[in-house]
Amino acid sequence: MKKFLLIIEDDFEVLGNGLGNVAYHQYLPANFLMNLCDEIGIKMSFMVDVAHVLELKKNAARSSDIRFQILLWEETVKQMVDRGFDVQLHLHPQWLNATYKEPFFYLGDNWNLGRSKQDEQEILIKNSVEYLTNLITPIKKDYKLSTFKAGSWGLQPSENLLALFDKYNFKIICGLRKDMHIPSAGIDYRGLEEDTLPYCPNYKDVRKVGKNGNLVIIPLAYYSPDFVTLSRLLYHLKVKMRKKQDPSIFYNKSIPNEVYSNNGIKNKKILKFGMHPYLTHLKFSNEPFSYLKKSFDTVHKRFLKLEGNGIPIIFESHTKHYMGNYNNISKFLKYIITQYNETVEFITFSDYINNYMSKTKVICNEDI
Ligand SMILES: [Zn+2]
Repeated sequence: MKKFLLIIEDDFEVLGNGLGNVAYHQYLPANFLMNLCDEIGIKMSFMVDVAHVLELKKNAARSSDIRFQILLWEETVKQMVDRGFDVQLHLHPQWLNATYKEPFFYLGDNWNLGRSKQDEQEILIKNSVEYLTNLITPIKKDYKLSTFKAGSWGLQPSENLLALFDKYNFKIICGLRKDMHIPSAGIDYRGLEEDTLPYCPNYKDVRKVGKNGNLVIIPLAYYSPDFVTLSRLLYHLKVKMRKKQDPSIFYNKSIPNEVYSNNGIKNKKILKFGMHPYLTHLKFSNEPFSYLKKSFDTVHKRFLKLEGNGIPIIFESHTKHYMGNYNNISKFLKYIITQYNETVEFITFSDYINNYMSKTKVICNEDI
């Protein structure tokens, strides 16, 4: 077993305010990512937002565009499984009870599943598990849904939510990150007891380490870029990527302000005082190569100080923002493969659960 188990998890979804199209934001970039992974010989996990597709299905009778997007979504997910990729669950609760007025969906303003009503949480999780299982088991008989990545990272309040994931046989939960604080969504991970290694959560407060149980939390790998790296990133996003990713190009009507401005995570606290004022985590989508390289080099260096092998590192990907940035992503993943061949092994969440979790360190209350 190598020192690190790198799990690329892609949040397979359209934009948070409901804008976008399965073809452009999901099918094409996911196909690019799968081709790239095949080329360099790695596997990864796709976390698919089923709340979105269930809402599309409710409105299927109303538009051929919606019917076509459902078909493309389902075929893309089936293709992921057929090509040997891992498919796991992601849910954006703002899709619950969305209103469709062609060609726009008007979504809710709650982006944190932990804040949804308890009966709505259970119905959504139950329906999502059934839907994905029915879609995938004809292709892969032993398919098991085992991992959940929280939409907008939101898992608070956690008690009911974690009990539900336990009930539906999930094993791994992701979304927490050191010091993440989004007051408008009710998300506050300051005081996270274990910010790096996998741990057993206390269901009452997901930030706390609990007793050995059925669920394990893997925190996102936090990263705080220096000022120069951050400035380069902001320039790239504002100047190079902005026009390429303008959602208005998908509609023949102007986007209503109510749709455009829906943002359940608008007051995310991203800056603090000091030499490293911006705290984020390992992620890739529309960033320049220099930023991606620096982020991974820095986190890898920090993790090297940890004892033991088989330490999982989660790398969050957003294919919805890949367009116009394929070259940087390709160059970056090839860089990891060549530069870190000695220490890094690429695996999926299913691989981790089936082959590594029981042999590697998980922090539980007994260990403290
Ligand atoms: Zn998401």
